[in-house]
Amino acid sequence: MANDGVGLYIHVPFCVKKCSYCSFNSVCIPEDTSGMCTALSTELIQRIDEQEMKFQTFYAGGGTPTLLPPEFWMRLIGMVQNPNLREVTIETNPAVLDAIDYSSLRLAGFNRISVGVQSFNDSNLQLLGRRHTSQEAMDTLNLIRKTGFKNISMDLMYGLPGQSLEDQKSDILNTLTFMPQHISAYELTLEAGTPMGDKGEKASEDQCVDMYNQLHDMLTEKGYIHYEVSSYALGDKYRSLHNSSYWNRTPYVGIGPSAHSFKNKKRSWNLSSIPEYESAVLNGVTPEESAEELTAENAAHEVLALGFRNVNGVDLSLIEEFGFQLDPSDIVSTGLVTRKGNLLIPDEKGMLFADHLALVAADLLKGV
Ligand code: SF4
Repeated sequence: MANDGVGLYIHVPFCVKKCSYCSFNSVCIPEDTSGMCTALSTELIQRIDEQEMKFQTFYAGGGTPTLLPPEFWMRLIGMVQNPNLREVTIETNPAVLDAIDYSSLRLAGFNRISVGVQSFNDSNLQLLGRRHTSQEAMDTLNLIRKTGFKNISMDLMYGLPGQSLEDQKSDILNTLTFMPQHISAYELTLEAGTPMGDKGEKASEDQCVDMYNQLHDMLTEKGYIHYEVSSYALGDKYRSLHNSSYWNRTPYVGIGPSAHSFKNKKRSWNLSSIPEYESAVLNGVTPEESAEELTAENAAHEVLALGFRNVNGVDLSLIEEFGFQLDPSDIVSTGLVTRKGNLLIPDEKGMLFADHLALVAADLLKGV
């Protein structure tokens, strides 16, 4: 049976240098990346062979996937090319400005690019351990636009220690001089085991709420749609199709060390150790480390957790499909959610308190 609309994620675990807040599975790039290139393409061939997959999205993330050569990406995209493939994204980092041939990446088949800018303030970039300046970020964005990319996403971060509302405003104004088609704006998360996480400093909760509101007001005023707690698009057609598939619980296949996959209620993930991953794939052994079957209760909780984070909301009929009922009036009475037919739609504040709403709603679930 063919699987239409499946998302494909390729994890490249290499960066020029580790950022001070980052807990993703990535290491400094080794001199020779050929082992990883072979392992990624081999795993992809194995996974395509499992059954006929018609991918709708291709997302090269990491890490810094632009560190691998365009020819490698052209080969991988060629393997999954089909008429359903609509969004083909690669993440990049302004720190690699001189080393990357963006025209070749476009020719390889990418039609969307996501640039990790994080801030236009050089002191904050240093604090985050980023390897680029604000000027390099601007130069990267301009170069990418010149090469003909028409769908550019930018990552921004807020809630940094010592960051004022004025600092954040200046980051947003700089972003707006460029008007990318998509903006992902994340509050800093302090991850244990990272230099910033271990230091434990960030803006206060109240300051983070003020920054979230400032971001919302400034971006929506310029025509951006706030469609997920951290995501803004310059019109519906620029919503991230790939990320939406995670939020809509459609199947996805993850290739690479620590990559996750989801299909038929089964969630599985690969080995995170880079040498163990490479060795497993190259020796013809599955790199899958473990898997779990979601129970109906897990699935209903997931629908709540994901639904309150985005403007599509929680679909009550889906909750019923999993064998549960939820009295909408109990959630609507929080004042953060409106009911539209079978949907519970969070407002801007509701999306910010999505975790709280999901916990309240999970407690109110009744078996049918
Ligand atoms: S560039 Fe991205 S993936 Fe790499 S260390 Fe920095 S935040 Fe992590």
